Amino acid sequence: MRQAAALLGLALLSGLFSGCDEPPRLREERIQVFGTWVDLALWGVDDATAARAIRVIQGDLGDLHTRWHAWQPGELTRINAALAAGESVDVADSMRPVLERARTLSLRSGDLFNPAIGRLVALWGFHADAPAKRVPPPAEAIDALVAAVPKMGDLAFDGSRLLSRNPAVQLDLGAFAKGYGVDIAIGRLQDLGIRDAMVNAGGDLRVLGRRGDRDWRVGIRAPAGGLLAAVEIADGESVFTSGTYERQFEHAGTRYHHIIDPRTGYPARGLSSVTVIGRDGAEADAAATALLVAGRDWPRTARALGVTAVLAIDEQGALQATPGMADRLQFLDQSPPALGIVPLPEI
Ligand code: ADP
Ligand code: MG
Repeated sequence: MRQAAALLGLALLSGLFSGCDEPPRLREERIQVFGTWVDLALWGVDDATAARAIRVIQGDLGDLHTRWHAWQPGELTRINAALAAGESVDVADSMRPVLERARTLSLRSGDLFNPAIGRLVALWGFHADAPAKRVPPPAEAIDALVAAVPKMGDLAFDGSRLLSRNPAVQLDLGAFAKGYGVDIAIGRLQDLGIRDAMVNAGGDLRVLGRRGDRDWRVGIRAPAGGLLAAVEIADGESVFTSGTYERQFEHAGTRYHHIIDPRTGYPARGLSSVTVIGRDGAEADAAATALLVAGRDWPRTARALGVTAVLAIDEQGALQATPGMADRLQFLDQSPPALGIVPLPEI
């Protein structure tokens, strides 16, 4: 749910815009949702089906954006107000699986991906379209929220009613909403009988099938800008990146970014970006955030989440990848950067 400016990153690589001398079989459509652009690439789809897909997906994602917004009044702010007051709250049928999925991923990540820390994110001033607060919050306020240990495991359902055992829980689905939304869009395309497509929300994406006679191919952005490498993505897979550069401010010579380590209450340290190839968007989105928070210890968290294809770039710009990612990276530069290969630890 970030601004378009933060999402210029990953460009689709060659071929997508070509094909002038053959009957056009790739349709590219752009819709504006989530406060950003979502690009749909549809292979071999007729006009009427494409128009229907766009309409349905625009409706779904627009709806999700309003209902899940972390600070503009909607379903999530209503739920948060009740949880903060220690009251149980009625939750729409469609919201329950979302919270349950978020809870499962949070637990598996050791609560490094922790959508219950909305208060911390707000305290740091990131619940605003353009962060107004340019100074870090007082240490006591941060420490108090960390000591309250809000986590997804504090939530319990009683029928359709949701209750938190911990009034410090404030839901912020920002680290996972885009992944969940991309999954919904992919599901809609499947319902319409579309077999070959890509849904790309500013570089975070998932594909179906193939692009004609080859796999979909996408670029991975370098933190400093530009493209670092390309990867081919198989049917159903997703690629999500979490980067500290997406939203940040600087104060007294220190940069403070929007991905908060729930253990310290401060912006996560150690890595500047993590790219994950996952089975679905929700998993890859949550995992990219969790690994960014894990910092140098990311391989253990990747193992716990069952994610095998990871590229991590540390604060000094050094690249590390799991074998499952390294095998797939196609560097674009003639002299590719040094890449440390990091096997995932045994459990
Ligand atoms: P990006 O794609 O911008 O790198 P992420 O998917 O990592 O973003 O999501 C970051 C957003 O998630 C933050 O803006 C905030 O709303 C929320 N958030 C921050 N820290 C955490 C965390 N540890 N766990 C879950 N959500 C977080
Ligand atoms: Mg994420």
